[in-house]
Amino acid sequence: MVRSLFEYIAPPLSSGEISSTHDVRGIHAVDCPLAQWITEMLGSGEHALERPSEKNLLKMRTYAEKFAAKSGTYLHPDHEVTDVVVEGLARHIEEVGKPLCPCNFYPDKAAEATLRRWICACDEMQIYKYCHCLLFVNPEGLPITEYLPDDHEGRQIYGLVTDPHPEKGRALRHRAGVPEVVADDAAED
Ligand code: SF4
Repeated sequence: MVRSLFEYIAPPLSSGEISSTHDVRGIHAVDCPLAQWITEMLGSGEHALERPSEKNLLKMRTYAEKFAAKSGTYLHPDHEVTDVVVEGLARHIEEVGKPLCPCNFYPDKAAEATLRRWICACDEMQIYKYCHCLLFVNPEGLPITEYLPDDHEGRQIYGLVTDPHPEKGRALRHRAGVPEVVADDAAED
């Protein structure tokens, strides 16, 4: 099951000040923090992580369901994918007070949490409607790539995936190319 989850997760956008050692394909089994976290969570070893509180899990689950409906996307048809991402977001609430995207590497999580760009729903989602964690996807479980720049990793990996509901979402579409933006419907406290 872990391998299939690795295969699901795409690397983040290599843009702005996000520091990433990931390449297009090498991330999944080597560096991806989410993959490492999945391994620990699903494993029975001594390093298995403590589960976030039910309160925070419910908070992020509810947020994900509401944002999916609002943005014209769907939660992943494989519920385990959604569960893993929701748990990662809830864990970040407990670690740094904000639901930072669990699919990125942050040199300094606390510093990143003071910014807006990778707090779910991140700038990339609000601008391009692209969720590299596969939390918000089309009915087939693919991330929407229609609005991404042609050279974006998401387009390279998934090809062109059209938006099933172009009338919804992309609240910050007008901010494409602007590195620091503020959205109104992030899962802030
Ligand atoms: S919307 Fe952005 S922050 Fe939220 S799970 Fe998807 S990629 Fe991560």
